[in-house]
Amino acid sequence: MKNDNSTHGGSSGTLWKKKDLLLLAAVLIAACLLFFLYRFLSAAPAAYGEVSVNGEVVAELDLNQDTSLTVSGWNGGSNTIVVQNGAISVTEATCPDHVCIHTGEISRTGETIVCLPNRLIITIIQDGG
Ligand SMILES: [Zn+2]
Repeated sequence: MKNDNSTHGGSSGTLWKKKDLLLLAAVLIAACLLFFLYRFLSAAPAAYGEVSVNGEVVAELDLNQDTSLTVSGWNGGSNTIVVQNGAISVTEATCPDHVCIHTGEISRTGETIVCLPNRLIITIIQDGG
């Protein structure tokens, strides 16, 4: 029974299997390409820090580019923002509480540094994410 069954569908079954294998290989290659493309794209995310003062965006900082800048905050205050190793931090500020400095470094999408006295907000935004 078992033997008869396998020989019966033998020739046509082999033909199907070859087509199946080709199709499977094509799908696997496509999946691999997509996977590596996705890995490549997610390995270097285009994240940037949006700096706003009093609700207005005053600067957009590329996280992949080390830099520093001083922004004039509300009411004559100022904050020194540093971008280093893909993270943003406030290193100097004229505000009395220094909450923004104590927040430390932020590097993940959605993280924020807020300086209430200077009305400064830094938010990390994922480009196209
Ligand atoms: Zn502050």
